[in-house]
Amino acid sequence: MRFVAKQPQEGINVSATHPLVEASALIVGLTAIFAGFVVLLVFLVEVALYFVSVEDEASLFEDWLPNDLITVAHTDDRLQETQRLVDQLARHWPESPYPFRVEIDESEDANAMALPGGLIIVTTGLLDQVESENELAFVLGHELGHFRNRDHLRALGRGVVLSIFVTAVTGGDVAGIGINIADLTLRSFGRKQETAADEFGLGIVYAEYGHVNEAWRLFERWKSMDDAQAELLTYLSTHPDTRNRIDDLKIFARETGWSESGAFTPLDW
Ligand SMILES: [Zn+2]
Repeated sequence: MRFVAKQPQEGINVSATHPLVEASALIVGLTAIFAGFVVLLVFLVEVALYFVSVEDEASLFEDWLPNDLITVAHTDDRLQETQRLVDQLARHWPESPYPFRVEIDESEDANAMALPGGLIIVTTGLLDQVESENELAFVLGHELGHFRNRDHLRALGRGVVLSIFVTAVTGGDVAGIGINIADLTLRSFGRKQETAADEFGLGIVYAEYGHVNEAWRLFERWKSMDDAQAELLTYLSTHPDTRNRIDDLKIFARETGWSESGAFTPLDW
């Protein structure tokens, strides 16, 4: 008998469902899986932070400095004055568990950062720009706000937060985690975190001076800078748009009834 090969039926490899429907089902499925992973990672960081108390964090990072920090001499006037100002401002947050430590980074990029264990880093580039103590007080008060919400740890990235957790649990040395300023300078917080830090910072300024005059004057000067000048202001790229920020601060000050007029305190340097 001769074998006669049957022709396969037409369309045997074509699904009855429209290809666009199948493609979208695939995209939706993959997106859902990806979103699930992201939620899980965020949750893991929150769990890790829950188990590393602020007190543990403060003692683990007591003498720690980022690996690549170029600090100024401890006798530097600006360092001593900034430390004094932070200590003075922190009295308005009496329940703070952090012993705040200031270091100045020799960098022409204007920036301010909150780091583990209560370490606040300001750059020489930022200090060159401030013209009154009140302006500096708001920048520092804002960083204190990040400590209050522990944003500073979340900004380190998941990998580092999980390493801190492991170090806290095993009693290891935080020097091995490898935190570099260079990796952190461009990290920014979410809009909500920034607003909360701004409101907290403004409250600290009000508590210290009895008014909020000059609190955002630094940003007003920055707003009118040209692009070339603004390029050295890393602070601007890691914080909300200056125009919106000033408007929000003004509205907040008006709503809370904090006066925008009052004598400002000159800098001691
Ligand atoms: Zn901030």
